[in-house]
Amino acid sequence: MTPVVITVAITGSVPRKKDNPAVPITPTEQIESTREAFEAGAILAHIHVRNDDETPSSDPERFGKVCNGIRTHCPGMIVQFSTGGRGRDPQARGSSLFLKPDMASLATGSVNFPTIVYENQTPLVEDLASKMRDNGVRPEIEVFDLSHLHGARRLADRGLLDERPHVQFVMGIQNAMPAHEHLLDVLLTEAKRLFPSCTWTAAGIGRHQAEVMSWALARGADAVRTGLEITFGSRRIVSRRATPSLCSWQRTPSLSMGAALRHRRKRVTSLALV
Ligand code: MG
Repeated sequence: MTPVVITVAITGSVPRKKDNPAVPITPTEQIESTREAFEAGAILAHIHVRNDDETPSSDPERFGKVCNGIRTHCPGMIVQFSTGGRGRDPQARGSSLFLKPDMASLATGSVNFPTIVYENQTPLVEDLASKMRDNGVRPEIEVFDLSHLHGARRLADRGLLDERPHVQFVMGIQNAMPAHEHLLDVLLTEAKRLFPSCTWTAAGIGRHQAEVMSWALARGADAVRTGLEITFGSRRIVSRRATPSLCSWQRTPSLSMGAALRHRRKRVTSLALV
């Protein structure tokens, strides 16, 4: 059985308490939710923070609180900050990278989302990549479209990204890349052509989570992602379950993830460190 890294995206930028009371909003709730997910087998935490009114925040103080709490209560867990854009001032998206999380998400191009254009203009992408490089933060390249792989390649050619990035293919967002199995093969082939040493994962949004995860695991993915950011919108999966119970669910033998706990340290080292 090949071990994989279980990533938890506990909050995201979209779900609100009215949608699901289990969504952790305050730093205290986020630390507790992450700790429970850690104990259930997760080893990488993807972090968004929120304002008191639940809107997306870029506040370095909140990012710092959550980061410190995770490091205290979840020893060895990888902390990954989101630099994603929904509801945030573009210029503030990299404002917490000086806190030196282990990783940060990096979208390398723009894409249509259900109700907005997710804008990632080249100067902003390069600025975020520069800040990550200068602070020793490993990027997770968020690929919402094939062209985003080539955006990552251009960053590497300019010295803003190394030759072994961690790549996440995001499938199933309305108006963006659909969740079709043959598309994952296209994406993976192109990623390995551009970055032969890359590590990778794939996330299916909402009702697509389980099928995309199974395709990824069948192709030897290094990691999978779950959590309320991913499952939000799926009536079939979410109901009222919180992220920690989703982690337990992900470790069912049918998904070949039972060894994640035993072997996670080794895989984490290869994923998060240069
Ligand atoms: Mg995110």
